[in-house]
Amino acid sequence: MPNNEEFVVTPYEVRGRVDYDRLRELFGTQPLTEELLARLKRLAGGELHPLLTRGIYYSHRDLASLLDGFEAGRRFFLYSGRGPSGPLHTSHLSQFELCLWFQKRLGLPMYIQITDDEKFWARSGLSREETLRWGLENLYDILAVGFDPKLTHVFFDSKSIASLYPLAIRVARKIPYSTVKAVFGFEPATNIGLVFYTALQTVPCFWPSWAEGTSIPCLIPCGIDQDPHFRLTRDIAEGLGYPKPALLHSRMIPGLLGEAAMSTTGSSADNALFLNDPPKVVERKVRNAFTGGRATVEEQRRLGAVPEICSVWALWRSRFAETEEKFAEITEGCRSGALLCGECKGQLLERIHAFYKEHDAARTRVKEWAETTIVTAAPKEL
Ligand code: SF4
Repeated sequence: MPNNEEFVVTPYEVRGRVDYDRLRELFGTQPLTEELLARLKRLAGGELHPLLTRGIYYSHRDLASLLDGFEAGRRFFLYSGRGPSGPLHTSHLSQFELCLWFQKRLGLPMYIQITDDEKFWARSGLSREETLRWGLENLYDILAVGFDPKLTHVFFDSKSIASLYPLAIRVARKIPYSTVKAVFGFEPATNIGLVFYTALQTVPCFWPSWAEGTSIPCLIPCGIDQDPHFRLTRDIAEGLGYPKPALLHSRMIPGLLGEAAMSTTGSSADNALFLNDPPKVVERKVRNAFTGGRATVEEQRRLGAVPEICSVWALWRSRFAETEEKFAEITEGCRSGALLCGECKGQLLERIHAFYKEHDAARTRVKEWAETTIVTAAPKEL
């Protein structure tokens, strides 16, 4: 795990000012080059998602060979998930929005895992009722980004266990305890649910191949902090006769308080915009957000501000600047001093309030069919 004097990045913690190029080198992943992006753009019909054009996704494992296969007629599928411990925040949606882009552009199946079991095992303060409730609430938010019900399948762990368990048995036999202990830092007091969960998280990467009896590659868009989870999956894939999942890694979206990543826990609640925050709370959080502005208006007009360290700019960059023109206008206005932080936040709030309204309406619509996407049977019975 990268851990030097300046930053710490693990699946459980992101701290300090992250040097993303250095992190990529430490993890041993490949850069998402202009050449690879141009190839993806061509395959996708001439346009890239802003998460790709703005450098938020910046690293990968085996994307080039995945695209080689796709060009030769070998379809792949997408996999992403959520551990339901509370409401989602806006940055949680990014990986699903990129998956949606792939689904729409390339017509790909999407598999979503809701790990209500894992969150119950990992958080002693959460009851089963809460993990189940948050599992469904989070699922509505995820599906509301616009997934096609016909191409979208959900493993809701406690409801889908009959479909997952036959493959989990095979996967679990390939993972030594010493490996999960080293990767996840398990201690003697760790409950055994979390140990077995490692197998359950791996299953969706292989499930379509298993179900269809043919080798189907998988692409996982995720934060680069999650790479260690999937290294383990990649290590055992070929031994089970399945392709190694390819990964697309993003930078962390910084928190509103200037922390390295948005967080959903305890006193850090003001660090993130939760999807169930009322408008007044959203307003307060954005107005108090950490910026790259100067100490005085006069100084900012004269010197310009610093977008790269600003949590508000990070929100524009990740989702709220809907066009490249708008993103360039905000960035240039910020750097030149023509745009002041109060006005910038006001414009952003308009976008956020509009987004929340649209999202709420979409969320209400998906409730009608969300539970029909939950996979409950093993392949033989499908
Ligand atoms: S003008 Fe906007 S983007 Fe620039 S530092 Fe201020 S709040 Fe951030």
